[in-house]
Amino acid sequence: MKKMLLEHKRKFILYLLACTFPVVRNLAQIAIVSLIFEIIEKKSMSFFYFVLIIAIVYFIFDGVIFVLSRLLRISYMRDILLSLRIKAFDKIIQMSYKQFNKQSRDVYASNLINDINTFENSFFVSLINVIFRFALYISVMVILVILNWQLALIIFGVSIFVLLVSKIFEKKTVSLQKEVSTANEEFTVDVSNVFTGLEILKLNNIEEAFLKKNRKQIVVLEGKKYSYNVFTSLQFNFNATIGSMVLIGLIVYLMYQTQAGIGYGEMMLTIQLASSAIFPLVNLFPLINVLKSSKAIYEKITTEEVSSETEESHKPFMFNDKINVNGVSFAYEDLPVFKSIHFSLEKGKKHLVKGPSGAGKSTLFKLLSHMIDDYDGSIDVDGMDLKQISSKSFNEKVSYVYQDVFLFEASLKDNITLFKPFSDEEVLVACKKAGLMEYIDSLDEGIHTIISENGKNLSGGERQRVSIARALCKKAEILFIDEATSSLNEELGRSIEQTILELDATVVAISHKYFEGITNQYDVVLEIKDGYLTKYDGVNYFSGVSL
Ligand code: ADP
Ligand code: MG
Repeated sequence: MKKMLLEHKRKFILYLLACTFPVVRNLAQIAIVSLIFEIIEKKSMSFFYFVLIIAIVYFIFDGVIFVLSRLLRISYMRDILLSLRIKAFDKIIQMSYKQFNKQSRDVYASNLINDINTFENSFFVSLINVIFRFALYISVMVILVILNWQLALIIFGVSIFVLLVSKIFEKKTVSLQKEVSTANEEFTVDVSNVFTGLEILKLNNIEEAFLKKNRKQIVVLEGKKYSYNVFTSLQFNFNATIGSMVLIGLIVYLMYQTQAGIGYGEMMLTIQLASSAIFPLVNLFPLINVLKSSKAIYEKITTEEVSSETEESHKPFMFNDKINVNGVSFAYEDLPVFKSIHFSLEKGKKHLVKGPSGAGKSTLFKLLSHMIDDYDGSIDVDGMDLKQISSKSFNEKVSYVYQDVFLFEASLKDNITLFKPFSDEEVLVACKKAGLMEYIDSLDEGIHTIISENGKNLSGGERQRVSIARALCKKAEILFIDEATSSLNEELGRSIEQTILELDATVVAISHKYFEGITNQYDVVLEIKDGYLTKYDGVNYFSGVSL
């Protein structure tokens, strides 16, 4: 946080300076009010004109200083907020796939929208007030020590008392602010779920139930915000009451002093100085608590989680012979998926994995592709432990074809090349192999046509073909294909599978569709059953036997 504030040093210094301008304004105001009381006592016209001129100069000066203070602060605040947004966004983008999947996507959206708004609304308002109040307190105290050191001492005692009271409030303020942030996250996730599933909700007339749940969530969220606001204003009011009591005591004391001969001007000066020391101070500590809660928000949205990728996992991925899975067991919390499986993938061969739904086919892909690494046993690539290989290097040489294909709002070409520099010819070759030409010919601008709204107008089959073209264009060494042909009709499914089988790459495909004359062209067919992986020979499978 400090680092971020000091990122723009020159602007930060100007910002600090601008925050103290109002102190000069305040002191000038105190002096003028005291002078006005002095006029009443002196009853002199020349003194009146003197004060009048000072007052006019003050008003002009006041306007200038107000505008200047704003101008100097605005650009710094804009820079900091921009850098916070970039940091928060970067943190999410830099996360490993595994880390990213620990939370719902909508939590990240909430961090970027709600939390940054909270920070924007509370941080700078509190910061300027803290600096201003602190500077005012110090300057007034210096003047008071010179004018009346006993009074200065009493006010200092009050400061210590208020500080101790505020310390008691600090923890609760921070934790209440965090609760608001979490409630915001939950609400965003829920709303997003409703929007995603709105079609199903409406078609089944069940939107009312969800609306009720959302309303409840709004009540919870607003309740949390309310608690936070009540708690912070409680602190302000509590401290302000202490301040008022001290001031009343002071006025009574000064009234006795007037009888003893102290002038109106001096009395007003003392009262104003004392209140200028007490009131900024009583608000100072609760504001520091608000600042601390903003800092907690800042840390939450910018601090990077410790990556599980250790120093060692930076070896390049090089695959020349075999990927060996040696006695791997894996469970999702309490749900065991694999019980000590053994098998090998051979370079250039075509592997088919079959098994009933929920058997663990997709999980097997995640194990092989680095997405899951908390398994027992080991996986090695030509003897090198997969956990030591960098995900980045691995992903350069591997391609995935899934059933759900995400399309970017970009040209068809960019969707296929994934923004890498391939020529139109290379893209067209990939498209031809993926059976995408008929679709491309129907487009006005061919592969340069822009795909909008996640390719709403593309059929399931066309989306699949885009995904296959991606893998072909990348010339991946290994292709993981998860049910890629399952949404295609038999004719297209056959021709795509034929293309896959002819690729010069290692293929691991999951498919529950079998096309006569095609499926048996795979070099190896594996079957997952009851947590074991076996070689499938079409008639028998040998449960639990290692390959
Ligand atoms: P398949 O692809 O063969 O249909 P999966 O590998 O997707 O099966 O899932 C295997 C089992 O693990 C299923 O019972 C599924 O419900 C469960 N599962 C899958 N992903 C997760 C997850 N992220 N957390 C917990 N359980 C999961
Ligand atoms: Mg699956």
